[in-house]
Amino acid sequence: MQQAQKPFYKHLLILGISLIVAVGLGWILGQILLLLVIALAGWLAWYMFNSYKLSVWLLSDPGASSAKLHLPEHLQTALNINEQRITAQITQQQERFSALLDATDAFPEPLLFIDAEFNLQRFNPAAVNSLGFDQHNIGASVCDALEQAEFTHWLESRGLEADHLKITSPVDNNLSFRVQLLKYSEDKYLLAFTDITKIQLQNQIRHDFVANVSHELRTPLTVLNGYLEVLKADQADPNHEVFKKLYKQTVSMNDLVTDLLELARLQDESSTPKTITAMVDVSLLLNELSLTATELSLDQHSIEYNIDKALIIPGKKRDLKSAFGNLIANAVRYTQPGGEIQISWFRQAGSAVFEVIDNGPGIDSSDIPRLTERFYRADAGRNRNQGGTGLGLAIVKHVVEKHHGKLEIESQEGHGSTFRISLPLARI
Ligand code: ADP
Repeated sequence: MQQAQKPFYKHLLILGISLIVAVGLGWILGQILLLLVIALAGWLAWYMFNSYKLSVWLLSDPGASSAKLHLPEHLQTALNINEQRITAQITQQQERFSALLDATDAFPEPLLFIDAEFNLQRFNPAAVNSLGFDQHNIGASVCDALEQAEFTHWLESRGLEADHLKITSPVDNNLSFRVQLLKYSEDKYLLAFTDITKIQLQNQIRHDFVANVSHELRTPLTVLNGYLEVLKADQADPNHEVFKKLYKQTVSMNDLVTDLLELARLQDESSTPKTITAMVDVSLLLNELSLTATELSLDQHSIEYNIDKALIIPGKKRDLKSAFGNLIANAVRYTQPGGEIQISWFRQAGSAVFEVIDNGPGIDSSDIPRLTERFYRADAGRNRNQGGTGLGLAIVKHVVEKHHGKLEIESQEGHGSTFRISLPLARI
């Protein structure tokens, strides 16, 4: 500001002197007014010319220098100061921007910057090594580059169907990633990849170990179970009670091994295709399960069925039977003799709903969120005696997830429980 003040005062001084000279000359020539008007008109024309040059320059290419304008010194000084400020700001912005780019380049996991049409704008070096991206991919569809129908489908839903997706690298089948879609401006997205190869490997090792141990236990348990069944049948045997207890324990262990193997099967990604196309007639399946329910109940409960016989859904019969069977078995096992159980299968909006309502002991609200954890029991002591393995609802949760459904549990202690599975009717 002060730098421009001095030339401005100098300019005012020149203006004042020139006007005084004009008045002096006018006085000598006897034409004061005429010379004053000529001097002022000259100044006005000069100002007009300068303002024209300034406006032309302001509308010209942003990079054009103002040095050649030859404007009055105070204006030129102000312009120079302004130019210096803008240059400093641009340099600062450029430094920040390149620091950001350097940070994304240094990031060890792949990052892809895409536009609203899913065309690639930029990628970091990690995307080159892990996903095989190169400069040819710039401007082209990221879906074409990754060539995975599931990824394209997920991206088209703008990540609304699931907040992340698991994919394998197009250049190395052994590399697995978890990918998330992040919107960072109106029509710009970031695809952030996280390498989960090691985690998946550890999970697989754990999963294989449990499956192998369960499998190895199965044969000796079956033999033991068979012998004990024979031995306990002899009521005259002095060890009759001992054999009965041992037999009961082997049955529980057998159930546990069966459930562990079932859970391992469900966790095995390859056991269920990503897209389920086979249709399941759930009313037939429930007919089979009703026999098991009657057997388990020993006719001690009133079990009512409300089944929409025409309602069939896309799904895997074995998995659905496992999930529905577990909910029915739980209702029978936990509801006191004389209790009532309602089993329903009906259509609601775009979903098919399987619902089991009982008037059993109910579940404390603090236990409900944890029920689907493996071996979680709401009332450990009491429930173990009722013959559960603690894996039933974990199995249900897995089946529901595989079928892209929803499990809801409503319960109040002393007032019974409702377990509801909603499954999509359309393509899964
Ligand atoms: P479990 O084999 O012990 O039944 P689940 O995973 O099937 O294992 O169930 C977990 C726990 O949820 C059970 O131990 C029990 O406490 C509770 N639960 C499940 N279903 C019912 C029900 N219908 N009524 C009351 N409690 C239930």
